Amino acid sequence: MSFVFQLAPTPSVPVLGQAERFPVRRIYCVGRNYEEHAKEMGFTGREPPFFFLKPADALVVVNEDETGQMAYPSLTQNFHHEIELVVAIGTGGRNIKAADAEKHIYGYAVGLDMTRRDLQNDMKKQGRPWCIGKAFDESAPIGPITPKALAGDVNHADIDVSVNGAVRQSSNVSKLIWNVAETIEHLSSAWELQAGDLIYTGTPEGVAAVVAGDVLVGKVAGLGTLTVKVNPAK
Ligand code: MN
Repeated sequence: MSFVFQLAPTPSVPVLGQAERFPVRRIYCVGRNYEEHAKEMGFTGREPPFFFLKPADALVVVNEDETGQMAYPSLTQNFHHEIELVVAIGTGGRNIKAADAEKHIYGYAVGLDMTRRDLQNDMKKQGRPWCIGKAFDESAPIGPITPKALAGDVNHADIDVSVNGAVRQSSNVSKLIWNVAETIEHLSSAWELQAGDLIYTGTPEGVAAVVAGDVLVGKVAGLGTLTVKVNPAK
């Protein structure tokens, strides 16, 4: 097969302990999935989960023991970090029940759902799509994928992010409103999941702004660490 210009490479994420990489198809994200974060965003209660997407080429892929690089994005004055557990889907399916979700999971990673908060808030007020606030270039830093057999109990893992060494967000994955299995059940009722899909599962409270020069270190206990630096705008 030939194309009118060269194909872009498939985005992919390194896997701890092996040479083969995880090829990425789609990035799904869950909104407001920790109660204290929902509150800081002005909401309360356990509403049904809702989803948005980022393009696969918005990933900033960072190996263990490396510092990733992302540019401060255009158009925003309020560029926020959201530390998240990321689920990597290894076997697809539709209408997956929560009780069966585990076997569809390949592994887990630490991710940052970087957000142009001012633009997202403008879009919310106007009832418009969130794309410009959420799905921009370099909006999805991700660390290496840990295969599930090596990951320990991620459903009860501490999750945190520090900026320049100071902790900004610190919680536990057990505080998810919709846990990983329930999220897969909801998501797979709306879209057919496929191998290569990533799910950013939501962020705990403490989201805040970063500026050029800041270094973010994201952790979920038992998974590879994510380190990324914010560079000046392009
Ligand atoms: Mn998020």
